[in-house]
Amino acid sequence: MPISEIHVCQCADCIQQEGHPNKQLHQQMNLLLSRLDEQQRRWYVAVEANRIGHGGLRLLSLITGMNEKTINADNKKSSKAWQSAQAPESVSVVEGVHVLKKRLGYSRRFGKNG
Ligand SMILES: [Zn+2]
Repeated sequence: MPISEIHVCQCADCIQQEGHPNKQLHQQMNLLLSRLDEQQRRWYVAVEANRIGHGGLRLLSLITGMNEKTINADNKKSSKAWQSAQAPESVSVVEGVHVLKKRLGYSRRFGKNG
């Protein structure tokens, strides 16, 4: 996906004039999402929405531009998948996301220069 297709977060923190700590995080999330394939994007967004809990679907929709219903459906699907199958090497999904970020050089390459 070309750089120009990276979604720009539309959450309240990011659209306000002053810099907000969440702005960089949301930019990094969208940059990461732009590097993942469709399945990986859906799973990552579902994990994040689930982690946030109440309001997570709406927030992730604003951050990523994905439809809330799609995220919710993916969340339900992935919950079932996670219950029926352990991740390789008994790594939790959250740990798996951290490993994935590490493998992609998430913090190293996607620093403040984007
Ligand atoms: Zn944002």
